Amino acid sequence: MLYLIHFDKPFRHAKHYLGYSQNHKTLERRIMHHKMGNGATLMRYVTKAGIGWHVVRTWANGTKNDERRLKKMGSTKYCPICNPDHWFMRGNLHGDMAYSGPSPYEYEYN
Ligand SMILES: [Zn+2]
Repeated sequence: MLYLIHFDKPFRHAKHYLGYSQNHKTLERRIMHHKMGNGATLMRYVTKAGIGWHVVRTWANGTKNDERRLKKMGSTKYCPICNPDHWFMRGNLHGDMAYSGPSPYEYEYN
C-alpha cells in the first residue's frame, strides 16, 4: 500500500512524502519511525525541522510501481488538503489506484 504525508509547512521544495509499506501494520510502524525521526531521509529532516505532518490518504493496493508513477506526476494533486475539490477523482487514473483508505484526516498520528 501507499501512503501520502502532507507537511504543515513546506520543507525546501517538498510539501509531501509518498511512501510504500506492505500493509496497515507495517504502515503504523513506519509512521512511528517517521515520528521518531527515523526511516526516510526526507521525513528525518522534516521532523528535525519541527514541521508537523499528517498522513492524509492511503492506497491499499498501491505498489512500488505506482509509487514511482505517482511521484513522477506530483503528489500535490492527490492531496486532500492541497486539492480539496478534486483529490478523490485523482486516484482513479489507473484503475488499480482507486481510493480505498479511510476518509482524509482519519489518520491522526500527531
Ligand atoms: Zn498537500
